[in-house]
Amino acid sequence: MKLVYTHEHHALVATVANHLLQNDIEVITKNQYASGGAGQLAPIETWPEVWVVNDKDCSRASELIEDLNKDVDKPQWQCQNCNEMNDATFDFCWNCQHDAS
Ligand SMILES: [Zn+2]
Repeated sequence: MKLVYTHEHHALVATVANHLLQNDIEVITKNQYASGGAGQLAPIETWPEVWVVNDKDCSRASELIEDLNKDVDKPQWQCQNCNEMNDATFDFCWNCQHDAS
């Protein structure tokens, strides 16, 4: 089992985990519930993590994550509901689930 991804934003970690699962890669997530509520800073040790169960899936998982993160270079958008900044990959605000539009 190998750690393939970690990020301070739970929504982004969940997006990566779902993307891998949809591509038939078995993953588990850790530290999902370790940090506090939204707006509360969590130390890096409690960042949620995505682990690939089968080591043979690791290189493919890395490629899939790279594909997903290509969108990261796009400009961020600001939530009209709570004013949080969101990565371009998010269709909904990570903080309040408000729609991007
Ligand atoms: Zn919001």
